[in-house]
This record gives sequence, structure tokens and C-alpha cells, in this order.
Amino acid sequence: MASNDTIVALATATGSGAIAVIRLSGPESIPIVNRIFKGKNLAEQASHTVHFGTIRNGDEVLDEVLVSLFIAPHSYTREDVVEISTHNSRYIIERIIELLIHNGARAARPGEFTLRAFLNGQMDLSQAEAVADLIASTSAASHRVAMQQMRGGFSDVLKQLREQLIQFASLIELELDFSEEDVEFANRSQLEALILEINGVIRKLIASFEQGNVLKNGVPVVIAGRPNVGKSTLLNTLLNEERAIVSDIAGTTRDTIEDEINIHGVAFRFIDTAGIRDTLDIIEAKGVERTREKMRQARLIVYLADPQQDDLEEIKSQIAEVAQLDVPYVTVVNKMDLLKPEHIDALRVIAPLFISAKNNVGVEELKQELLHKVNLHNLDAGDVLVSNVRHVEALRKTEDALQRVLQGINGSVTSDFLALDIRQALHHLGEITGSVSTDDLLDNIFSKFCIGK
Ligand code: GDP
Ligand code: ZN
Repeated sequence: MASNDTIVALATATGSGAIAVIRLSGPESIPIVNRIFKGKNLAEQASHTVHFGTIRNGDEVLDEVLVSLFIAPHSYTREDVVEISTHNSRYIIERIIELLIHNGARAARPGEFTLRAFLNGQMDLSQAEAVADLIASTSAASHRVAMQQMRGGFSDVLKQLREQLIQFASLIELELDFSEEDVEFANRSQLEALILEINGVIRKLIASFEQGNVLKNGVPVVIAGRPNVGKSTLLNTLLNEERAIVSDIAGTTRDTIEDEINIHGVAFRFIDTAGIRDTLDIIEAKGVERTREKMRQARLIVYLADPQQDDLEEIKSQIAEVAQLDVPYVTVVNKMDLLKPEHIDALRVIAPLFISAKNNVGVEELKQELLHKVNLHNLDAGDVLVSNVRHVEALRKTEDALQRVLQGINGSVTSDFLALDIRQALHHLGEITGSVSTDDLLDNIFSKFCIGK
């Protein structure tokens, strides 16, 4: 599916930095650059070579550049690709792109390089999407998930499943041609066994989404507790900088603040909520519903208590309310610097972590506990994780269709209905890798990319 035009865009970020890369892809990439490049004749050079020269507009020298050649199909897009490394000046970049367009290139649309890579079979759709995730990754964990998906992690699994299903679909469709004669080419119990197997794999993939999503987007954590227990102080200590406003006046932290911190390679998104007093006296306060909602959506709650403010009974009743939310939580007693040893002993019944947020005592242990609670440590390096909402939706639809096939087999429905549901399942599986795709779907995915990707 070769494109007939040549696209150009800045491939590097705008802003400061010594070098910028302008990228072209398409059949005319080399001739177009040749027209404005003074140096070797690029048409005579081998793939994967770099050439020094100048970019000229007539007699005017715009920049000294390095030109890299990637000749089809050995490039990102499988088309001829030329990359021009220039000095990173907005003026130079704009002038060079303008010149390239003047000489026959077209400004690339968002994600168009990656779209071409997909259309030319360089990668499947889920891999193309992973490129965007890879570029956006901010932690070792999100990087790992994206990298694994880009390298085909679960495409391979899906491909195998699809091929097996296709075989059955064709056998069943063959029966349709012989419908008068009541034949069964496709062994029903074999089909049932296959579908149960496939469904098992799909369920596992769907289940992996929770972790995949968390690794990709960060673990949402709520720090909850009454006003003045030290939530903002803790957040600041975790962030290691003064981002949330700390104050002595109860209830200063009005709006929820979100910040991401990287704990040993896993991103956590901390949500500092308004004081939990409100959250605990929910019934009357309306605005607090939002806080509670956040707490329910969190993957983890850090419940912070301050024994200077509340006695043990009060703290216990707050813990009971947190426990009701059915979200894993960690009980933390703050301001341990103000606690006498007998105080500490009395508090042990609630099995808390003792910290001093202000003095950064016990915070490392808290981090370890957070990592432990999200239970990411038992992941195998090779585990396939689904991290994309679109993919998990397609998987769910596949599962539904397969469920109908199973019901059909057991209810002895006719081959045409079975064939229909199997085709549905195939369709949804194919949506993930792009074996089945529509222009709308592609538009939707690639328009979210930046120009130049
Ligand atoms: P929030 O309302 O829960 O966010 O509480 P803040 O973080 O605003 O803290 C309330 C007060 O407690 C501030 O004066 C903090 O300096 C103080 N504070 C926080 N952590 C500690 C601690 O570990 N020890 C002591 N002594 N004071 C703390
Ligand atoms: Zn606060």
C-alpha cells in the first residue's frame, strides 16, 4: 500500500536543545532533499549512511546539516526516509521545511509517519499505539509496558488465537454450503474446547488491564485524614518539593491536588484531598462526595492519623469508615516526633506505620509499603499486560461473542448462527491489531499523535 506522496515534519521537540531532526517519508524523499542539499549526490548513496553538507535556498546557505538515508523498505515507514539534522533554530527549521514543501513535499498530519508504518505492514495497530505510549512514558514501569507492546508482546498471542478461530469459521461456513445434507465438518466438541481455551487467554488479558493501566498511568493514591494531620506535609516530603500549600489553619487544602512521583520505577499519582473530617461526616456535607468518589477510585488509600488531635477510639472509628470503602489502605500515624514511647505502644493495636512527615522519618518505609500493597512485585518480566482501553474493550467484546458461540454449541443452534458469532469474535480480535480497521478508527488513533511521529 505504497503512498504516492512525500511527507515532511519536524521529528524532534520544539524548544531548546542543540539539534533538531526534520524527517521526510515517501517516494520523493531523496530527490526532494537532493534539490536543496549541497554535498554528495544523495541518489547515489547507500541506505543507513550519513552525509555532511549544506542546505541552500539558491545562493543562500541556511544551515550546515547531516543527512541520514534510510532506503525502502529498511526504514520506520518502509518508505524512503530522509532525516536532516539541523541546528535547533526555529527560524532554520521553518525555512528548511518551507523549502522542502516548495520542492514537492507535503506537511505531515499528526501521527502520519506511524500511520504509514502501520499501513505498510511494519507494525500492527497495537504496536503503533505503543509507540505513542513509549514516547509518553515517565517511569520504568510504563516504559516496560509500552516497550513490550511495541515489540509485539500480545499481538503474537492474538494472532495465534485468530488463526485457530479462522479455521473453525471456514469449516462451519463450509457446512452452510451443504445445509440440505446436514453435515458437520467442524467438530463441535473440538470447537468448544478451543473456545474455552481462547476465552481463558482473553480473560487473562482482560484481567491484566488493571495492572497494565496502573503501570501506564500511575497508581492513584489518596492521602486521607482529618484537617491538619499532615497530609500536605507528607505529600511535599514525598514530592520532595513544596508543591502543595502547607498551613496551620485547618482545612486549607481545599481542592484536590494531583502529583506524580516515581517510587522505585513505579509511578504513583498522589491525590491530596480535603480533610477527611468532612469525608467522615459525609452524610451532611455534599461537596465531600467528590472526595469520597476519589477515594473509591483510588487504588490505594493512605489513611493518616494524628494522635495529638484524636484519641485512639476516634482513630479506630475513622479507620472503620475507610475500611468500608473497600479500597486497600495503609494506616499511618504521623507526627511521631511528638509521641511519647507509651503513646506509641498504645497505638500499636491499629498496626500503623509511624512516620514524621515533617522530618522525613519513616517515609521510605511507607514507600516500600505502597509498592508492596499495589502488588506489582510479583509480575514476571515476560508477562503480557494490556494497558490500552481500546484493546480491553475489544477483548471484552470478543469474550461476549465467544460466550454466544459456546451457548450456541450447547443449544445446538444452526451453523449459520455459530458462524456469525465466530466472525464477530474474529472481528473484535482483529480490531486490536488492525487486521480489521476503518478510516474512522485510524483517524481516531493517529490524530492523538503529535505531528512528526
Ligand atoms: P493537612 O491539613 O492534613 O494537609 O496538614 P498539613 O500538612 O497542612 O500540616 C498541618 C500542620 O502539622 C503543619 O503545621 C505541619 O507543619 C504540621 N506537621 C506535619 N507533619 C508533622 C510532623 O511529622 N511532626 C510535627 N511536629 N508536625 C507536623
Ligand atoms: Zn493539607
